[in-house]
Amino acid sequence: MVVALWLSGRGLQSLAATPADLLMSLGRVTGLVAADLLLIQVFLMARVPWIERSYGQDELARRHRLVGFWSFNLMLAHIVLITLGYTLADHSDVVHETWKFVTSYGGMLLAVAGTAALTVVTVTSVRAARRVLRYESWHLLHLYAYVGVGLSIPHEIWTGTDFITSPLARVYWWASYLVAAGAALVFRVGIPVWRTLRHGITVTSVVRESNDVVTVHMGGRGLHRLPVQAGQFFIWRFLDGPGWSRGNPYSLSGAPRPGRVQITAKDLGDGSGRLAHLRPGTKVLIEGPYGRLTGEHRVGDKVAMLACGIGITPMRALLEDLPYKRGDATLIYRARSEPDVIFRNELDELGRTRGITVHYLTGPRIPGRGSWLPHSHARWRDNDVLRRLVPDLTSRDVFVCGPDAWMEAVSKAALDAGLPAGQLHQERFTW
Ligand SMILES: Cc1cc2nc3c(=O)[nH]c(=O)nc-3n(C[C@H](O)[C@H](O)[C@H](O)COP(=O)(O)OP(=O)(O)OC[C@H]3O[C@@H](n4cnc5c(N)ncnc54)[C@H](O)[C@@H]3O)c2cc1C
Repeated sequence: MVVALWLSGRGLQSLAATPADLLMSLGRVTGLVAADLLLIQVFLMARVPWIERSYGQDELARRHRLVGFWSFNLMLAHIVLITLGYTLADHSDVVHETWKFVTSYGGMLLAVAGTAALTVVTVTSVRAARRVLRYESWHLLHLYAYVGVGLSIPHEIWTGTDFITSPLARVYWWASYLVAAGAALVFRVGIPVWRTLRHGITVTSVVRESNDVVTVHMGGRGLHRLPVQAGQFFIWRFLDGPGWSRGNPYSLSGAPRPGRVQITAKDLGDGSGRLAHLRPGTKVLIEGPYGRLTGEHRVGDKVAMLACGIGITPMRALLEDLPYKRGDATLIYRARSEPDVIFRNELDELGRTRGITVHYLTGPRIPGRGSWLPHSHARWRDNDVLRRLVPDLTSRDVFVCGPDAWMEAVSKAALDAGLPAGQLHQERFTW
């Protein structure tokens, strides 16, 4: 759309005119595409339900990242090209021209501040920087992206050639800004606040499952109206004192039941560690439900659940909730050691009552091999074990959840065993 608007503004013809026109025209198109991608990014992360259901939060985060880096690089190209183009046209020098730009064109100072904000966001999102920063610090800095987008708008409106000259362009840009801002406000703020107030969720009890895992049971009003399915997650905030504003994503660890929900969390840091100390009655803020690891995308009747570590949480909810016949569901649960297996009684009970085949694979990893198997199975090939444990794997929907590397290994084994990609359903616990 923006390239079409650029073309209709004689963008192409300008390329063949003077060198200054060429630079300025390229500067315009790179700026337009950069701004457009920036808005697409805001929209991608606005948690719009039908977009979220189509891609899944992990895939959206991946695309958001890709679009973000392209947007940033094009924005840099826009700044360089426009400055050089005007420098050539005015027979001036770069420093003088840059100064003139910033001080005499409407909205330019704001755009400089916006560029600084977007630079901070991009630099802190480079993998190496991201690893060093705490998640909360990174997330807080990331919110500056909204400031960056906001600050860059005035210079487009006041000085952008396409904006000034074309009514169609003005309609397009205003509509895009309104849709992106509206989506972020409605879906990231409005609906979570409304659902939180409507359901008034509070903690009812906290149960220890193992050394470092607890289940938080919660109750609330009219929870049967919450449009949540087994396999989905919420971002949870517990009003238990300082630090409550940090949200953490946790999947439901049991099928949603009228009046109650539950999550099960492994202690991995500050946020998850405090769950063990929650008191009954603590108020809970919710954002969600999100996630596409549900029965909605199933293509057949039979299922195989492949879980590792804390990845068992959505699998238990799915096994409780999905419809399937006796013998049509298999669970393979990989854990580091026997004491790390959680929900053993519940899973064995489910196995008996609903006719699920349950395999526990415990033990350390196989050193030097990116395998999903424990060391005790080192003699076997990854896909052979899968085929052996689930002989009709290719006719099942396969749900996978666990640490990233394990998920990659087991998904590869399933695909190598002949599973059609459309029957593989995954949820990542890292974005
Ligand atoms: C979709 C999804 C579902 C999840 N479900 C479960 C579950 O059912 N049970 C469970 O034990 N864990 C689950 N997790 C992982 C859980 O969210 C993190 O372990 C937890 O947030 C760690 O926070 P922390 O403050 O204790 O540790 P920190 O040390 O602050 O974080 C450890 C790592 O957890 C991740 N993380 C932290 N906060 C967030 C956040 N707000 N959003 C996304 N990632 C974050 C980051 O990768 C970070 O590096 C899930 C994660 C995702 C993305």
